[in-house]
Amino acid sequence: MVYSIIAVLIIIVIALFIVRMASGFGGLPVLNYHKISSGNDPDFLTVTTGQLRQHFDYLNKNGYTTIFISELLEHVEHKKPLPAKPVMITLDDGYRDNFTSLYPLLKEYNIKANIFLVAGFIQSPDNKYIHPNPMGEFMHVEDALIMSKDMVQFGLHTYSHQSYSKLSLPEIEADICQTKERLQELGIPVQPCHAYTFGAYNQKNDNKREAMFGLLKQNDIRMAFRVSNWVDKIPVRNKLFISRIHVSGLFPFWKFKVAVRGFIKVFNRFEKIFK
Ligand SMILES: [Zn+2]
Repeated sequence: MVYSIIAVLIIIVIALFIVRMASGFGGLPVLNYHKISSGNDPDFLTVTTGQLRQHFDYLNKNGYTTIFISELLEHVEHKKPLPAKPVMITLDDGYRDNFTSLYPLLKEYNIKANIFLVAGFIQSPDNKYIHPNPMGEFMHVEDALIMSKDMVQFGLHTYSHQSYSKLSLPEIEADICQTKERLQELGIPVQPCHAYTFGAYNQKNDNKREAMFGLLKQNDIRMAFRVSNWVDKIPVRNKLFISRIHVSGLFPFWKFKVAVRGFIKVFNRFEKIFK
């Protein structure tokens, strides 16, 4: 009898722990990808088109609706309702494969995506700094312009992929301005939205972080994203601090489902405990 009571109590404690840790209930999963490969060579930052088909198929079959940055902004600023089961697909850096491998799939599955561009890495005739780039091959201006007509919106991801935790406040402000100016010069339409490179948002320096938020606001950046493997509840508590979930090419499919439901952080903690 005593043992069954203890067992029930343990189950209740574990259930409460999971519910507290899992933030997927009624929240907005924002998925964060980087490179897309048409081959069979997934890695931490690279998801293959085969994996992506599984992901998109899962989202469509389970009633999720993908949303643009502009839709989230309308919701955050003007309380415009979001569709049922909203999910946001984001990609960082602006690799060329986002155009060659991702874009056709977005059309095929009717999925919206949001790409955060490193402005200085975009290939254009006047850009002498892009070759060779150790991070990979980046999209051409024309690629971005084609994608901007349907299925894709763009946001900012710095000028040359520097960390805002390492730059000084004046340098951060200069970077925001330079990034916006360059994208405007190239004629690429962007949303007033930023994704922190390396997920770095001055997490260890409260004063600098607040000052950085101030700079973003002053320069009309109205939303910003970090990577925390968390799902934020809606309405979001801080629109300059929205959580995203890193989707690794090393995830088996079941782990992707865990991630979309907001349980990946809980799962990672359990995995660490039992390793
Ligand atoms: Zn990045």
